[in-house]
Amino acid sequence: MACVFCRIVKRELPSYIVYEDDKNMVFLDIYPVSKGHLLVIPKEHYESIHDTPGKILARTWLLASILGKIYRVEMGAPGVNIVTNSGSAAGQEVFHFHIHVIPRWGRWTGFWGGRHRLSEEEARDVLDMWSSKKELIVKGLSEI
Ligand code: 5GP
Ligand code: ZN
Repeated sequence: MACVFCRIVKRELPSYIVYEDDKNMVFLDIYPVSKGHLLVIPKEHYESIHDTPGKILARTWLLASILGKIYRVEMGAPGVNIVTNSGSAAGQEVFHFHIHVIPRWGRWTGFWGGRHRLSEEEARDVLDMWSSKKELIVKGLSEI
């Protein structure tokens, strides 16, 4: 099993998990563009947005939207980018469908600017920010 994200789902590789249920997983990007950069994936392996069945696609985008809204409304981020890359020409590096949720805290650093290696301290801070938000996520997901 070569897929990095499948290995994260199976706990063969470590990650900082913000949320998971039987269908989806949300964890911290190891090279965040901003503090709180999340990756939202279906647990099942699909190469990109275009290979993912509609039901799974809808739930994964809804989840990304809920997370983005929590950044905006609950955590005070003045902006958020929610984006997926399809194909290496578009910058896709991991070929397991995922959505980036990138909160913007003020200073615009360009779309992928500000990238840095995730530190343990930053990861702990972000997990703390999310520790009380599980109910909101579950409530949002219950809409479909
Ligand atoms: P893509 O360029 O495919 O849209 O995004 C892939 C993302 O996955 C990148 O932002 C990259 O930093 C992240 N990434 C790659 N390998 C790992 C990993 O092993 N763990 C985590 N948490 N993120 C990863
Ligand atoms: Zn995979």
